[in-house]
Order: sequence, then C-alpha cells, then structure tokens
Amino acid sequence: MAPHVRPRVFVTRQLPGEALGRLSKHVELRVWEEELPPPREALLELARGVEGLITLLTDRVDAPLLEASPSLRAVSNVAVGYDNIDVAACTARRIAVGNTPGVLTETTADFAFALLMGLARRVAEADGYVRAGQWRTWSPTLLLGADIHGATLGIVGLGAIGAAMARRARGFGMRVLYVNRHPKPELEAVLGLRRVDKATLLAESDFVSLHVPLTPETRHWMGRAELAAMKPGAMLVNTARGTVVDQAALAEALAGGRLGGAALDVTEPEPLPMDSPLLKLPNVLLAPHIASASHATRGRMASMAVDNLLAALDGRRPPHCVNPELFP
Ligand code: NAP
Repeated sequence: MAPHVRPRVFVTRQLPGEALGRLSKHVELRVWEEELPPPREALLELARGVEGLITLLTDRVDAPLLEASPSLRAVSNVAVGYDNIDVAACTARRIAVGNTPGVLTETTADFAFALLMGLARRVAEADGYVRAGQWRTWSPTLLLGADIHGATLGIVGLGAIGAAMARRARGFGMRVLYVNRHPKPELEAVLGLRRVDKATLLAESDFVSLHVPLTPETRHWMGRAELAAMKPGAMLVNTARGTVVDQAALAEALAGGRLGGAALDVTEPEPLPMDSPLLKLPNVLLAPHIASASHATRGRMASMAVDNLLAALDGRRPPHCVNPELFP
C-alpha cells in the first residue's frame, strides 16, 4: 500500500500488544480510547468515510451502519463469534468480514473448565466466606460441593472449544457426551466421547457446557423445556453467548432448586442489570465475558484481526474470513 493512498481505519477500542502499532504503519488510524464502547451515534459517525473497521462483539455492524459508511471494504472482528455483524449485508456490499478462530480455543476452554470446577466446588462462595470472617472451625458439613471426577459432562457444540473442553474433561476422569450438527467420529474414537440426542444429553449430564455459536437455530437452545429436562441438581456452564440460554427460565430453575447451579461468562444483556435475579443466587458463578482473556491470547487475537484487515484492504482474502465467497 503506497503511503499516499493509505486507507482510513477506525478501531473501536484500544487493543493489547503491538498489533495496532503495526497497523498504524499501513493505514490512517483512529482508535476509540475510552473504556466503554463507542455509543451507536459515535460509531456511525466515526465509521463514515473509512475503508476498514476493527470491531469487538460490543459493536453492532448492521445495514444502517454500512449505509452510513459506503467506502467500507473490510470489517475485522476481534472474536471468533460474529453474531454482532450482519454478514449477509456485508457480503451484499462486497465487504470482507474477518474473525479470530483457533487462537482462543485453549484459553477459552481453560476458563470454561475453571468455571465448571469453581461452580462444582463453590470456590467463589468459599473465598467470600473466609474474607467475611465467617470461618470459625473445620467442619465436616461446610461448603459441600459436587465431584467432578466420575461425573458426566454434556457438551453442546463439539467444535474447536467444545473439543478442547472434552479433552480437559477426559483428563479429569469424566464421562463425556455431546450433541453437534455433524458427528465427529475421530474425536469419539480418540477421546472416548459419545454422540447422543438432546434429550439424552440433558437427562444424563451432571454438567452441561455450551459451545455453539449464537445463530437463529441456537437462540434459547437451553429454554424452559430443556432446563426442565436436565437431571435434577445438574449444573450449567455457559461460555458461548448469553442468548443461547433463556435466562428468565434459568433464573426460575435455579431459584426453584431444580438445578444445582450455573456458571455464566456470558449473559443477556452484558453487563447484567444489578437487579437481575441471578445476582441474588449463591449457586450462580458469574464472570464478565473473559473466557479468552489471557495476556497471550488477547495479543494474538488483536494481531490476527490486523492481519485479516490488512489482507482485505489489499484486495486479498483475509486469512480468517467468514464470507470467503467474495474471493473466488
Ligand atoms: P466452532 O469451532 O465453529 O464450533 C461451533 C460448533 O457448534 C460446531 O461444532 C458446530 O457444528 C456446532 N453447532 C453450530 N450450530 C449448531 C446447532 N444448531 N446445533 C448443534 N451444534 C451446532 O466455534 P468455536 O471456536 O468452538 O467457538 C464457539 C463459540 O464460542 C463462538 O461462536 C463464540 O460465540 C463462543 N466464544 C466465546 C468466548 C468467550 O469469551 N466467552 C470465546 C470464544 C468463543 P458443526 O461442526 O456441525 O458445524
């Protein structure tokens, strides 16, 4: 890219690592420096006249935004999920869309497993108990939890992160069931997994962990009927997207004692309003959407997003492109 035709790029948040420094050598760069994402009006205004956007899952890239930015040629999302982007609308305007699969797989599975363990063994409750000065003596009945070894884990969506979760579970001596659109016979053979239907997974799993992308088919995948079909006392882990779960039904199932607990890295909306019933339940473990948040992984995601953007601005297919049909 010659210096006199440097494309204009807007990045909706400061990113970790050296990626934006590298990007600034190739483009006219503008970065939103505030902690909170640009409000909708600011995003529309700052996207006007740019050729490239680097976005986060907090930024909605839809038809009105594309109309406000007719010069746009590339949108690079710093996430593997891209439910914040209207990909069909981008494709119709020949705008390439990139994402960051793979690099966050192991880090996200680490956190999903950390949530599972933290929920089962009540780690956050135990920490609060000690800090509050409530610990008076060793007790045989204090903060009893659920065993992880020997329990059954049901994985919903055996993609990259689901498979990484299954590997961890096998290492901990768990039995692992899964549902997925397509069978994964190689993983079944290597990891000793069993593909089952939804009803069996819900009825037999002590823990259910969600790893599907948010799509029209997976919206409220875990609805009222599914929650009622879970094994009594079972626990739910969600590191996928908040809307994969019917959250009102989940709060009721937890409050009614039907479920043993839930660990949620993702919610609907994000952040949760402070009057959410989930915040009042001791058997709910919450995190602010940080499953991929390790120093190394967030740096790699930023770098990959920059690689995707630079390729698309150069007329090449981004290394990780969600609408590759634009590059036959
Ligand atoms: P992936 O490799 O594309 O895996 C997604 C899996 O879901 C695939 O196996 C797919 O099946 C399956 N699937 C899709 N629709 C389904 C349906 N209707 N019913 C059953 N299975 C279905 O994606 P990934 O990298 O594992 O990431 C999964 C999701 O995790 C992302 O989309 C994102 O939303 C979320 N995520 C969250 C965080 C976080 O910070 N909390 C971090 C990373 C990712 P097929 O194999 O048949 O296509």
